[in-house]
Amino acid sequence: MDTRHIGPQADVLIAGAGPAGCAAAIVCAVAGLRTVLLERAPGPVSRPGEALHPGAEVLLARLLPDGFADAVRARHEGITVGWGAEPRFQPFGQDAAGSWYGFQVDRQRLDALLLDRARQAGAEVHLGCRALEPVVEGGAVNGVRLGRAGRLLRTGTVIDATGRVRWLSRALGLSGPPRSPRLLTWYGYATGACPERDAAPAIVADGSGWTWTARVGPDRYQWMRLDFVPQQGRRPRLPQEFAGLEPEGRPRAADVSWRLCPQPAGPGWFIAGDAGVLLDPASSHGVLRALLSGWTAGSLTAAAADRSLEPGRAAGMYREWLREGAERDMTHLSARYAELGAPGFG
Ligand SMILES: Cc1cc2nc3c(=O)[nH]c(=O)nc-3n(C[C@H](O)[C@H](O)[C@H](O)COP(=O)(O)OP(=O)(O)OC[C@H]3O[C@@H](n4cnc5c(N)ncnc54)[C@H](O)[C@@H]3O)c2cc1C
Repeated sequence: MDTRHIGPQADVLIAGAGPAGCAAAIVCAVAGLRTVLLERAPGPVSRPGEALHPGAEVLLARLLPDGFADAVRARHEGITVGWGAEPRFQPFGQDAAGSWYGFQVDRQRLDALLLDRARQAGAEVHLGCRALEPVVEGGAVNGVRLGRAGRLLRTGTVIDATGRVRWLSRALGLSGPPRSPRLLTWYGYATGACPERDAAPAIVADGSGWTWTARVGPDRYQWMRLDFVPQQGRRPRLPQEFAGLEPEGRPRAADVSWRLCPQPAGPGWFIAGDAGVLLDPASSHGVLRALLSGWTAGSLTAAAADRSLEPGRAAGMYREWLREGAERDMTHLSARYAELGAPGFG
């Protein structure tokens, strides 16, 4: 991408236009900051991460005031869970207004809606443009080299939302060791009809690992398989319940070993989404965490920019908030895996 037209300065530069980066860009642009959002891909791509917890709806309604109904492919009142026992339906919950519903989204469509909203709010969006390296002076990040030519953009704050790439923490030498044994999730899609999976997604786990199955659209289903001890060189087959469906291409794998960036904020930077905290998909709210951490990093950036919060305090608050939530989620999932006798947990 030709980067000559990108201005030399911004209040905030955000790398990565997934849910975390778009949430941060929307919040910063709405607050009136000169916001630049970089995405290395030429546009929103199809990614896994379609099952959203009911809590994500409230956040999405704030970020996307014009709605996001056309990204929703299915709704469900709960999940069928077989955790070392016979599978049983578990509702999300309810209140006086009725049941809570989780939902399945088309991620490419959702990411496109978030990106459009960031543009509409005033963010300068550059697709096909990669953050190359941070510029660090006097211990603070105050610029980024970007694009193939390494053009310099000076900026008050950098928000890393590059997902599992972890661009900034790698560049700053802040990547800690994984917080779990090595975990690999295989996933794939299949088309056809599987009526038993239409009412609710299912997760079935035993001492060897877990399998997730869900309907992600009309006549379209997704599966995931995580073996606690990765099976060397063996691609898993379609789950038994999808035996009558037509697989879409070959299964793919993603390294989802748990990670928590030891310093997810500092002078001039925040790290949001999977780049800051990564758990495997059984934690069930990667997208919600990405939206929430992008939103929080953006809000603290805006507060530091209008001097209602001292920048060092903003970074400290973010570090504590992210660490506490991640430790809680890791402790919880680790205990759930230990119940199954999974090696390396508990
Ligand atoms: C197999 C699988 C299944 C999952 N299922 C679920 C699920 O059902 N529900 C759920 O809530 N979560 C799920 N997740 C997790 C969820 O997908 C992630 O938590 C979520 O996408 C994280 O959002 P993010 O914005 O942090 O990162 P991403 O969505 O990964 O976005 C990061 C963006 O940064 C860009 N980028 C990378 N490097 C650079 C660079 N140097 N410069 C510019 N741009 C860059 C990338 O191209 C990408 O667009 C799943 C994950 C996997 C692997």
